[in-house]
Amino acid sequence: MSELERLAEEVAQCTKCLLHRGRTHAVPGEGPDGATIMFVGEAPGFHEDQQGRPFVGAAGQFLEELLASIGLTRGDVYITNVIKCRPPGNRDPLPDEIRSCAPFLDRQIEMIEPTILVTLGRFSMARAFPNGRISRIHGEARKIGGIVYYPMYHPAAALHRPSLRSTVEEDMRRIPLVMERAAQMGESQAPPQAEQLRLL
Ligand code: URA
Repeated sequence: MSELERLAEEVAQCTKCLLHRGRTHAVPGEGPDGATIMFVGEAPGFHEDQQGRPFVGAAGQFLEELLASIGLTRGDVYITNVIKCRPPGNRDPLPDEIRSCAPFLDRQIEMIEPTILVTLGRFSMARAFPNGRISRIHGEARKIGGIVYYPMYHPAAALHRPSLRSTVEEDMRRIPLVMERAAQMGESQAPPQAEQLRLL
């Protein structure tokens, strides 16, 4: 059993927050151990809870279309969420739920060592950029601790607000260029909201 599989078993047994009481399945995440791109969403929704897999509902369908636009399938990337169990009624994750679940995501990032970590939505963005505003920093790549963080709007946001769709599509289309430049990119010094550093 791989380290990631062992972690998935721990997630499935986890009772660190109250969300375990309402779950059908925990949703640890999926993808190859050696993925160079990691996508981190917010939390499982109804379909994810039913199936135990991330991004299998409408937002997942859109994410797959976005991946296809840069020649990738979901099998090429690692996909997970900030929290691994569905909040009731799809409400926002609570701070203590995010805190309880954070060690799982930290360990997944350590195991996978992605070149680029794409944050989907503001809860995922907040882990790397606690004071960042998604409307300002989406599509800006920053290297932190050797990993290039690349914040994007959540695909579900684009489904609810059609005006965001082209922004999300453009941000996705820049990922191959970000990958190409990742090795040369210096570590980010300034907090992203303090400086408009358009790298691309
Ligand atoms: N939205 C998320 O943030 N994650 C999922 O897995 C599905 C929808």
